[in-house]
Formats: sequence, structure tokens, C-alpha cells
Amino acid sequence: MTGRFLTVACGECEHEATIFDRASTVVTCSECDAVLAEPTGGKATLFGEVVEIVEER
Ligand SMILES: [Zn+2]
Repeated sequence: MTGRFLTVACGECEHEATIFDRASTVVTCSECDAVLAEPTGGKATLFGEVVEIVEER
């Protein structure tokens, strides 16, 4: 199974972080600790704005 990496801009401070779209743990912003992604068992629920999708090869 493959997933994608996404660049997400934090909704609180606009800091950009790269996260896996099937993240299995809660991902928080390294700058302000806002939640960027929550695991759901499949694709993570994303918070903030996706600015880039990085396909894995
Ligand atoms: Zn932030």
C-alpha cells in the first residue's frame, strides 16, 4: 500500500509541514502545536490547507 506526502499550511500560523496522508498518529504544527492531521484508520483527516501533493515513487 502506498500513500502520498502532502505539504500542509497550518491554519493558525501558516507554517508549512510535510505529512503522510495515512498518518497513524496525530500530527501537530511544530510552530504553534495546532493539529494538522488526525488518524482515522485510513486517510488522515487534514486540518489546514494542502499546498502541495508529493507523489511517492
Ligand atoms: Zn502553526
